[in-house]
Amino acid sequence: MKGSHGPCSDLTVTMLENVPLAPLTTLKIGGNARWLVRPSGVKGLSRYCRTCPGDLPRFILGGGSNLLVDDNGFHGVVVDLTHTLNAIVVEHQDAHGGILRVEAGAATRKTAHVARQNGLAGLAFMAGIPGTIGGALRMNAGAYGCDVKGVLLDAQLMDATGNLHTRNAQELGLAYRHCDLPKGWIFVSARFHLARGESEAIKSQMRDYNHKRTQAQPLRYPSAGSVFRNPAGAAAWQLIDAAGLRGHRIGDAQISEKHSNFFVNLGAASSLHMEELIELARNRVAQHSGVQLTLEIGILTPQGLRTEPGR
Ligand SMILES: Cc1cc2nc3c(=O)[nH]c(=O)nc-3n(C[C@H](O)[C@H](O)[C@H](O)COP(=O)(O)OP(=O)(O)OC[C@H]3O[C@@H](n4cnc5c(N)ncnc54)[C@H](O)[C@@H]3O)c2cc1C
Repeated sequence: MKGSHGPCSDLTVTMLENVPLAPLTTLKIGGNARWLVRPSGVKGLSRYCRTCPGDLPRFILGGGSNLLVDDNGFHGVVVDLTHTLNAIVVEHQDAHGGILRVEAGAATRKTAHVARQNGLAGLAFMAGIPGTIGGALRMNAGAYGCDVKGVLLDAQLMDATGNLHTRNAQELGLAYRHCDLPKGWIFVSARFHLARGESEAIKSQMRDYNHKRTQAQPLRYPSAGSVFRNPAGAAAWQLIDAAGLRGHRIGDAQISEKHSNFFVNLGAASSLHMEELIELARNRVAQHSGVQLTLEIGILTPQGLRTEPGR
C-alpha cells in the first residue's frame, strides 16, 4: 500500500508488505520480505534513509542475480531501486568517446546496449550479465577479462543518513567480485568512461560473448551464476568437478551438468536443499583437493545478508 502505513510512512516511497522475493531473483527461491520500499527517486531515497527506523534490517536489492533467499524470507525492509532509479544518459560525447551516466536500478544488459547504440565501446562484457548497475558496482561484475573497475569514472553513493558522496574506482577498492562499500551505503548512480567504437563491431563482440556464455552456462534453468569464488590460481568449477559432483542433486537443487559452479533450480528447489548442496560441495572439495571454497553469492536470511570473506 502506498505511503499509508508501515515503518516509514512517506509519500515519496511506495511501501509494500509481505512481498514474495523469489520472483525478484534469478534463482526463484525464497520467502517473503516483511517490507519492500520503492523510493520515488533520489530525494525519496534520501528521505527514506533519514526517517526509516534504524533497528529494522535493510537490504538493497538489484536484479537478485547473485542471491539465495531463505525459505523463511527476510524480516526487514528490502529497498528496490529498479522501478524508479533506472535512467541511462549519455552525459558527454565527442570523436574520442564519451561518458555514460547510469542510475543504480538500470539493468546491466540494457546499459551495454545503450552504450553500443551510441557508438561507445567498453561495456560489451556486460551484455550477458543479469542484474542492475548497483549490483554490478557492488560485485565489481566482470567477464572475458573486463570488469566494472576498468570502465568506471566514478559512482554516486548515499550514506545511511541520506547524504550523497562521490567515489572513484580506486576509492571504492574494487577488486575481484569485491568492493569496499561502507556499511549501510547505497549506490545511486555511476559514470562510465567509454572509448569511441563502431556500433556493428561492438554488436558482433556481444554476440561472440553471448555465444560463449550459451555454450558454457545452463541458461535455461534458474541460477545465481557462479556460487563460489574462484580461489587463487584455480577455477571453482574444476574443483567441484574433480570432487565428482557434476550433476549431483538434492531435491530440485542441482549442480549443473553443464557448469559445475552453477547450481540450478530444477523447478521447486528450497533454500534448505540449495544450502545442503553448497555445504556438500564445500566439504567434498576440501576433502578432495584441500581447498576451502568461499561463496560468491550472498544468502539473504530473515535477519539479513550473509556473505563470506572476500566478497
Ligand atoms: C546466468 C548468470 C550469469 C552471470 N554471469 C556473471 C558474470 O559473467 N560476471 C559476473 O561478475 N557476475 C555474473 N553473474 C552474477 C550476477 O549477475 C552479478 O553479480 C550481478 O552484478 C549482480 O547484480 P544484481 O543487481 O542482480 O545484484 P543482487 O543480486 O540484487 O545483489 C548483489 C549484491 O549487491 C548489492 N546491491 C545491489 N544493488 C545495490 C545498490 N544500489 N547499492 C548497494 N548495494 C547494492 C546487494 O545488496 C547484494 O549485496 C551471473 C548471474 C547469473 C544468474
